[in-house]
Amino acid sequence: MTTPIEETLVLVKPDGVARNLTGEILRRIEAKGYALVDVRLLQADRELLATHYAEHEGKPFYEPLMDFMQSGPIVAMRVAGNRVIEGFRVLAGQTDPTTAAPGTIRGDLARDWGLPVQQNLVHGSDSPESAERELALWFD
Ligand code: GDP
Ligand code: MG
Repeated sequence: MTTPIEETLVLVKPDGVARNLTGEILRRIEAKGYALVDVRLLQADRELLATHYAEHEGKPFYEPLMDFMQSGPIVAMRVAGNRVIEGFRVLAGQTDPTTAAPGTIRGDLARDWGLPVQQNLVHGSDSPESAERELALWFD
């Protein structure tokens, strides 16, 4: 069985940057054996985020998510590794930090103090198609 080297888009969301967790998140990515290929710090505008989160348009959490993602700088990372797309999703943990497993970024580091689910520290592409689309959006 071959293990193709893939690339995925990781975002450290505004809560992660504001809480100085960028280094800890990158440490976990590198400890897993993934490689940082490119990185940038940026303030995302609504147009970029609307394209990024097009699949969620119209959902109840869409507008709060758009506001949250514009609330401060984001660190975007191009990360490479064996099956990194699925692997980073495992490293990140479930979407809702309340039930994200211990040992995961969200399970260990996201705060469960009645904060909205959207404040879950990271984004990771969910498929090869998403990764290709999202990397082009954030890096090209
Ligand atoms: P992900 O792929 O695990 O990031 O989750 P989704 O693609 O389903 O959702 C995108 C992002 O929207 C999540 O990471 C959260 O930041 C936010 N989100 C998802 N579901 C909810 C929800 O039910 N409520 C709120 N407030 N935010 C949500
Ligand atoms: Mg998603």
